[in-house]
Amino acid sequence: MKQLTFRCSCCRRIVPRNPRARNQHYCGAKPCQQARKNKWQQNKQQKDCDHRANKEESQSAWRQQNPDYWKLYREKNPAYCERNRKLQRKRDLKRKLKNLSVMTRPILQRRTRQTFKQSEQQEDRGSCKEGLVSTTTLDAIQFPHNGGIL
Ligand SMILES: [Zn+2]
Repeated sequence: MKQLTFRCSCCRRIVPRNPRARNQHYCGAKPCQQARKNKWQQNKQQKDCDHRANKEESQSAWRQQNPDYWKLYREKNPAYCERNRKLQRKRDLKRKLKNLSVMTRPILQRRTRQTFKQSEQQEDRGSCKEGLVSTTTLDAIQFPHNGGIL
């Protein structure tokens, strides 16, 4: 017999199944339905070349018809600008850290191992070694552009 309830992939609640929906993974709550649509859209963007091309074409046409839209929007919504700036800084930093970790992984590993040896030679205070590693690696990384400020 088919299960009468299921767990929503978005909100993780156990909810009754809609008898008319096949393969139901999301409940009817608005945020969950939005998450389902976003996921569908994302999948479509990745898999369907025609869909992607159509979307890019229509967006480009719209941009040509409304060239000042984003400039005016940013002037009207300074809070949006500030939030976006902050989030972009975070994304930049994340990317920088990712690139850095690929380039300097061998150096950091060596440094971390040395730190381990030093800490083992010193008295064992029973402190968390992971904490030690993370502070050491963060100290080793320097950010030339913003002086290390997140
Ligand atoms: Zn849900």
